[in-house]
Amino acid sequence: MELLKLQGVIVSEDVERAMLRVPREEFVLPEYRDEAYEDHPLPILEGQTISAPHMCAIMCEAAEIRRGDSVLEIGTGSGYHAALCAEIVSPTGEPVEGLVVTVEVVKRLAFFARENLKRTGYYDRVHVIVADGSTGAPVRSAFDRILVTAAAPKVPPPLLEQLKEGGILVIPVGPRWQQLLVKLKREKEGVAREPITYCVFVALRGRYGYER
Ligand code: SAH
Repeated sequence: MELLKLQGVIVSEDVERAMLRVPREEFVLPEYRDEAYEDHPLPILEGQTISAPHMCAIMCEAAEIRRGDSVLEIGTGSGYHAALCAEIVSPTGEPVEGLVVTVEVVKRLAFFARENLKRTGYYDRVHVIVADGSTGAPVRSAFDRILVTAAAPKVPPPLLEQLKEGGILVIPVGPRWQQLLVKLKREKEGVAREPITYCVFVALRGRYGYER
């Protein structure tokens, strides 16, 4: 990906490497391949979108994702953002490194993502689970970092519960057509909240989404 440091949003070398290595054209629909390296969202299946590259970078930077981290993503979509996370937490793919779990509510998208991850060599580093991720991952574990790539009316409490102490959750919250991307850090006592930027994401569904 031609970067130009993506308008200054890329700060860390890890994020830069991930943006350079993960081939976005392999995660978009064939008819949009020509636009794969333009900095805007693109339609995928089921009326969903793959986020703009700058938004993926902003979220990875805000979440301070590092090598060795365990990352949970809610909203797999194409699998592109999950692949970026895998490239950051596990650049060599060795089992000792970090791991990415990603949850998708639409089965067809989970299949689409798995195929994309296989073709690009990220399949072993990313577990794609089909479930309502608004209630967290259906696994008994806590994560260092959680990214939600669909907008929620409020922060779903189960996601905060799946965050380790010192862990960071990045999520777009607010009304349906305009949200604030927020960073929440779980501290010994309480949660620190920091606004990152305004944004517009597709809607989170499920128990803690807009529609029940
Ligand atoms: N991160 C994706 C883009 C996400 S688009 C990428 O890199 O391509 C948002 C995705 O969230 C859609 O695929 C949508 O189906 C999914 N989604 C919506 N509500 C969900 C829920 N409750 N649990 C899991 N996934 C959900």
